[in-house]
Order: sequence, then C-alpha cells, then structure tokens
Amino acid sequence: MALFSLGMITSESVSGQSNSTSRPEYVLVIHGGAGVLESAPADIQAKYHNGLREALLAGEAVLKSGGSAIDAIVAAITKMEDNPLFNAGKGAVYNEAGEITMDASIMEGKEGRAGAVGLVKHTKNPILAAKAIMDDGRHVFLVGEGAEIFAQKAGVEMVEQDYFYTQPRWDAYEHTLKTKLEREFHLNSKGTVGAAALDKHGNLAAGTSTGGMHFKRVGRLGDSPVIGAGTWADNQSCAVSATGHGEYFIRNNVASDISARMKYLGETLQKAADYVIMDKLMKIEAEGGIIAVDKDGNIAMPFNTTGMYRGYVKAGEKPVTKIYIGE
Ligand code: ASP
Repeated sequence: MALFSLGMITSESVSGQSNSTSRPEYVLVIHGGAGVLESAPADIQAKYHNGLREALLAGEAVLKSGGSAIDAIVAAITKMEDNPLFNAGKGAVYNEAGEITMDASIMEGKEGRAGAVGLVKHTKNPILAAKAIMDDGRHVFLVGEGAEIFAQKAGVEMVEQDYFYTQPRWDAYEHTLKTKLEREFHLNSKGTVGAAALDKHGNLAAGTSTGGMHFKRVGRLGDSPVIGAGTWADNQSCAVSATGHGEYFIRNNVASDISARMKYLGETLQKAADYVIMDKLMKIEAEGGIIAVDKDGNIAMPFNTTGMYRGYVKAGEKPVTKIYIGE
C-alpha cells in the first residue's frame, strides 16, 4: 500500500564536466530530505534554500582549502543538524513515546572506513559521533547509551533532550497521537540530511543524519545509520546519501547497490541511480531519493517524490539549491 501517492517524479543529473574529460577539482552535493510540501509558501521555500546554501558554503570552504571530503561532509551536515528546519539534530521528529532518537552514519571511499550511531538522545550532532566511531576504528555501529558514552569520551557535545525541541515537530506528534493516522507517520518525516563529496585528492565520502520517521516505534532504526543502505562511499565508484522510507531502503541496500551497479555492470552514476530510485523502488512504491557524486565529479540527484531539498557546488562555480522538479 502506498503511504501517499507517487505523484510527480523526477530524475536529474548534472555532469561534472560536460565536454571535458578532466574532473572538477572538488564537488559537494547535499540533501535535506525527500518528500517536501507540495507547494510551500515562498518564504518557507526561501528558508530551505538558505539552509541548503549555508551547508554548501560550509562544506565548500573545507574543500576549497584542500581539506578532505570527510571533513567537508561533516561541515555541511552539522550545519543542517543545527538548523531546526531539518529532521536531524535540532528539529528532529518525535517517536511514538514523544522522545527524540537520532541516527547517523559516515563513510570514506579510500579505505572503506565507516562509523554509525543509532537511537542517540543527547548527542548535539550525531554525525560527529559517527565520525568519532569511524576514527576510532574498533567498531562500526554503536547504538543507544553505549554510543553516547563513547561519543562523550571522544569529545562530542551532549545536550538535554529539550535542545532538540521545536514547536512544529511537537504539534505534529500531538496530532498523530490523537488521530493515529498512518499516513502522517510518513508525511511528517521530511527533512533527513546528507552529503557526499569528492575532494582535491580524489577521495570520496558520504554521510547521513536523521531523526528517523515521525511517530516511529520505540527502538526503530531506519536506513540512515545503516552502511550500504543509507550511506556508501567507494573511491572506485561513487559516494551516496539516501533519504526516504527507510524500511524499503534497508531491504534494497540502496546506497551500495548504486555503487555496485557502476562497478560490476559498468553503468554510469546516473543510470545506476535512476534504475534504483526510479525503477526498482518505484515498482514497490518505495518513496525517496539519493544524492551522489562519482569519482569523476559527476553528480546525480534522482527522487520519486514531489520534491527533494537538494543542492550542489563545484569548484569555480556558484552553489545551486533546488526543492521541486525543474528548478
Ligand atoms: N530514511 C529516513 C528513515 O527512514 C527518513 C527519511 O529519509 O526521510 O529513518
């Protein structure tokens, strides 16, 4: 059963270099979640464009100065985690018990190192906890209290749950509590954030951060912290961050499937991403999208929902941000 209609669909690509074989010096591509409001008022749209732009500029500053793709995506994602518009960090959605639990993951494409956290309640920037786990290297995935004890020891800032509170998310929680309308579970989950980058050294990285699905069951994890499903990076192919109905994205191993199609079938990033999002997931009515950059600096941003907050910046060019189709 579709949770809501797969009305408008789109797929778009922006070639890193249309008429040249050389790759751009660096590329950063981000998303702020798929499944946007069908026609948001202009002032709200402007806020999202601004939030995306701030994230792009923060990440680009790292790349421009020769910093790593990992540090660039962390800079972009923390900006969006701190922005209450997005469903990650401050502004995350509530679970069915009225609590905020967040998930995040990160991966670098040179050695395939990765880190992930799930169900964290006090970590101000969950992407920093995921990075601390990756940097430590002993484990890949920590959840709950253990994840936060580890992150705090690694110097990651902890805050009270109140920090994450926003009135619109709380109103949405109370509304669903009263109505128990299943469609609201998905409709109010908008705003997961993610980033993928190619740096001057030719390294790829990707990361994703989320409050998960609105009104999710206590203990539920989505695809965002699952390496392979929500996040993937491989210097031989591409870096991907996903957003959408997590259960389907886990079952279809979305992010790494795109990379695998490039490596084993020789598909371009656009072809691989289109197949997974616009064909495979569409057929099972699984909603969402991805942003990705490949080793040559080409990007793809397909989504099968009414829109996806998204943007990119390439060396020597101005940042571009988009919400709907054909912008
Ligand atoms: N993928 C996220 C999850 O299932 C939600 C989203 O991206 O909108 O937790």
